[in-house]
Amino acid sequence: MARSSISAQPTAKKRGNAHARKTARVAERGPKKRFQTRLLKWYREYGRDLPWRRTANPYRILVSEVMLQQTQVDRVIPKYHEFLEKYPTLSDLAAAEPEEVRKTWYPLGYNIRPYRLHSIACEAVERYGGNIPQKHDDLMSLKGIGRYTAGAVRSFAFNKDAPILDTNVMRVLHRIFVGEGNPKNQKAKLWVLAEETLPKGKGYDFNQALMDFGAMVCTARKPYCLLCPMREFCKAFPVQTK
Ligand code: SF4
Repeated sequence: MARSSISAQPTAKKRGNAHARKTARVAERGPKKRFQTRLLKWYREYGRDLPWRRTANPYRILVSEVMLQQTQVDRVIPKYHEFLEKYPTLSDLAAAEPEEVRKTWYPLGYNIRPYRLHSIACEAVERYGGNIPQKHDDLMSLKGIGRYTAGAVRSFAFNKDAPILDTNVMRVLHRIFVGEGNPKNQKAKLWVLAEETLPKGKGYDFNQALMDFGAMVCTARKPYCLLCPMREFCKAFPVQTK
């Protein structure tokens, strides 16, 4: 009884601390919530219609994700179709000669990628019966799959709330929630942000939206800050461009 009455009447110092904690939490939660709501709304209106968004086939999604690393969407689209026509399944890809896969990949560049993709296919056939595994640790155990690709495959193929962090997403989260320093040196923090901002049950749309927003609004060189729905709470607003 005595204990409860003490806790029911906190000292001024305790009240101050509680208030400070509450204020800090609200200040963080507010922008995050607004960011989630506005990003999803923006995506419903402006999201791109891309071929890999019309499938839930994990292999096709993996192919698109590997192709999209360091390569523009418009260059990837025709090659994505051509590649899948030639290697329609993971097993077809595993059975192909690596050199042939590299030739099909041309001219996308970054030639380590077709070899990597081929080796993932071989490993998945051997260890998972020709399927792409769903679990984070299983995906990460495949040589050539990093944290970003695992998150992308889990959210886009298996509808999981798995965070992603590529260069675009890093830039968006860093500008909005951090606003200073070099994002490349803050990866751990940005991964936490990617996880924290992901709204429950909306991993697929939210991650797609993040990528579109980074490619279309919060671009690297000339972000559209004045038209941006995040400008009220973005820590980097307005980004000065030369
Ligand atoms: S205000 Fe500018 S920097 Fe901030 S999220 Fe929008 S486009 Fe990016």
